[in-house]
Amino acid sequence: MISVEDAQRLVLEQATALPAERVELVDSLGLVLAEAVASDIDSPPWEKSIVDGYAVRSVDLATGEAELEILEEVMAGAVPTLEVGPGQATRIMTGAPTPAGCDAVVMVEQTEVLPAVSPGTLGRVRIHAAKLEAGRNILRRAAAMKCGDPVLAPGAIIRPAEIGLLAEVGKRHVLAQLRARVAVLATGDEIVSCEQKPGPGQIRNSNGPMLCGLVRRAGGTAHDLGIAADTTESLDAHVRRGLEADVLVLSGGVSAGVLDLVPGVLAANGVEQVFHKVNVKPGKPIWFGVLNREDRRRLVFGLPGNPVSSLVCFELFVRSALRQLAGERDVLPRPRWARLTRSHTIRGPRDTYHPAVLEESEAGWTVEPVAWRGSADLRALSAANSLVLFPGGDRTFEPGARLATILL
Ligand code: AMP
Ligand code: MG
Repeated sequence: MISVEDAQRLVLEQATALPAERVELVDSLGLVLAEAVASDIDSPPWEKSIVDGYAVRSVDLATGEAELEILEEVMAGAVPTLEVGPGQATRIMTGAPTPAGCDAVVMVEQTEVLPAVSPGTLGRVRIHAAKLEAGRNILRRAAAMKCGDPVLAPGAIIRPAEIGLLAEVGKRHVLAQLRARVAVLATGDEIVSCEQKPGPGQIRNSNGPMLCGLVRRAGGTAHDLGIAADTTESLDAHVRRGLEADVLVLSGGVSAGVLDLVPGVLAANGVEQVFHKVNVKPGKPIWFGVLNREDRRRLVFGLPGNPVSSLVCFELFVRSALRQLAGERDVLPRPRWARLTRSHTIRGPRDTYHPAVLEESEAGWTVEPVAWRGSADLRALSAANSLVLFPGGDRTFEPGARLATILL
């Protein structure tokens, strides 16, 4: 049986980034940029005031005190018309261009307006305790970027800050990698949809909605295909629809039971197995394969039916694949190391990912496994915020043991 690391490598070898597409800037959040973007403007586009106050000549404030004639008022969006001369100041708002002749701006808090003596003038301003060096409170033209400067490279993940930057340089549309379209299919004769009260022998479909949530959180678009019965016909019909997506994620039907028909139906649809079974607990029966069609390759994950196993397998194998398809790099879950809070015994050769609570305290990061009643116990999983990895082998881990965890 292959290890988690080998399985992750085999999956990522098949997950080639999807093509790029032009999208509206407002819809690009979370996507990976697929073009180099240069600025088409200087930013700021002029020498600009970064405070509300008075544009002055710093030599006039050699003593820190002065009384200056107010020349004019420049609001944001307006431009100054007069040059500031000796003994003069221009009232200016944050973001407005500074007038010629000035070399600093005094904050309004350090000033006091004197009543205008002659009608039609703006009066005078008294400045207190404001010794200013030249350049104070003025942002130089192009201080942040010059026209033509490269501002973003392909591969950048578009966060809100990047959206703002792209808007600033005039990009109404951007070329970005497509998100993976993921079809989610639950399988099992016993599975009923969640609005139904389960009859004898039935259980509700928790995996379908959960996997759709996992897909969205991983940046993919989820299409819920509902529930297939454990018959070749039903599975075949659903699988055909699922293979229209970039990725098909199934749950159930991949173990060694009589009605575990999923691998056979996938094979009949041309999906080639890459691996079946990984040395991990929970999640051992996981199946992974690919369908190479003319246009592009489809990835197919058969996850074990037990909900906790499904979630663990998604986090270990599917999530990184979806991110790589969407053009991200360095996609594997990054472990956070933490100290175990109490002793914990595990048996068997498989690496175990146990739901746990990860917390930061003064002593650093600690991790406490939650009480867990097996692979169907979603309630325990909901009390957890992470998975802690206990390496395989019969042994007891003592409090303080340093273990890898993955955030959920
Ligand atoms: P299987 O892998 O099909 O043998 O299923 C293993 C266990 O997971 C069985 O107890 C199933 O009833 C349960 N299971 C399978 N699919 C789902 C699902 N969609 N939601 C909740 N439990 C499921
Ligand atoms: Mg089943």
